[in-house]
Amino acid sequence: MKILRGLSEMSAWSCERSASGKTIALVPTMGCFHEGHLSLMRHARRFADYVVVTLFVNPLQFGPREDFARYPRDFDRDAALAAANGVDVVFAPDPADMYPPGYQTHITVDQLSQGLCGRNRPGHFSGVTTVVAKLFHIVRPNVAVFGSKDFQQLAVIRRMLEDLNWDIKIIAHPVVREADGLAMSSRNIYLSAAERSSALCLSRAIKHARQLVGQGLREATTILSELRDLIAADQAVQIEYVNVVDRFNLSDQAVVDQDSVLLLAVRIGHTRLIDNGRLIEGEVG
Ligand code: AMP
Repeated sequence: MKILRGLSEMSAWSCERSASGKTIALVPTMGCFHEGHLSLMRHARRFADYVVVTLFVNPLQFGPREDFARYPRDFDRDAALAAANGVDVVFAPDPADMYPPGYQTHITVDQLSQGLCGRNRPGHFSGVTTVVAKLFHIVRPNVAVFGSKDFQQLAVIRRMLEDLNWDIKIIAHPVVREADGLAMSSRNIYLSAAERSSALCLSRAIKHARQLVGQGLREATTILSELRDLIAADQAVQIEYVNVVDRFNLSDQAVVDQDSVLLLAVRIGHTRLIDNGRLIEGEVG
């Protein structure tokens, strides 16, 4: 497995592969790998000849009061895990090369970035689309794999590609969970034992919502008010949002249908956690 840090080095590697008719799958990450990231890497292998994983904690997508400085970083462990999961290249650029002095260009997907996580994290999605666009230009993948754990991010990236007529196939990977249902996240390591157990409210809420829908309930406001009560019963948990939305345009739904997704964001202590699930069984993403 190669480790590349230079932007032009990375582009040259990709150009050589493309020129010889080979395809490239990209998995963008911020590192601190868990089984969720590793599943994306193994999944990516099915869609291309080469798998490139980018490892870059992107300063642009963190707000001034967010956890950029303390975001967990362990390059050697990540590189070993990527190698063990069949990755061909880890691309880990220097922030100073990605955003040199004078940098001032941003990509914003207007409407889809505004609600849900965007409301509480202004500028976050613009940071994400900007870095993803830059990584796409540098790595030039045929396919990119993203986790549906970050459901809004996936919708925003798909919109950007469509709006910019960009011919990269996006593959969504289902949420990878711990045995007890907690969605894997690099931020789970911030949780104390008590907070870790409070965090199960997210997967429980999804399960409960599916049960209600299974019993024939379709009115979103009724389902949501039950879920809010369920989650708020634990005082350690602050709800940021709980919404039933259409999986394509992320607009709120009054009545649950095949395209409904439950999206949740909570704060537990200093940690912000998100989760989501389709309410009527269907394919991912
Ligand atoms: P991150 O390093 O958190 O930016 O995540 C990198 C990629 O891994 C994104 O596409 C995430 O959606 C995906 N990812 C993170 N956690 C999970 C998970 N538990 N299941 C599936 N994909 C995940």
